[in-house]
Amino acid sequence: MDLNEEDTQMIIGALDSLGVTLADHGHKWTDGEREIYERSLSVLRGERPCEGCGKPSTTSDSEGIPLCDDCAKACDEDESDPSLS
Ligand SMILES: [Zn+2]
Repeated sequence: MDLNEEDTQMIIGALDSLGVTLADHGHKWTDGEREIYERSLSVLRGERPCEGCGKPSTTSDSEGIPLCDDCAKACDEDESDPSLS
């Protein structure tokens, strides 16, 4: 997908206004709905999902694999503690 910044902001704005409207009507977000919303935003922003759990990545490992903080921390702990393996 190749969107310019203006298009990206417009789509994020549309998603946000839909979300606010639904909330105004008493809609309760499920975990799944919240997750696809967050994933949609990360796709629009050109971020890649975490390899470990699919949440938006905030970092990457030494090989450039996208990871969230939790998974990056879990990987570090695996590597730094050989007694676990
Ligand atoms: Zn993760």
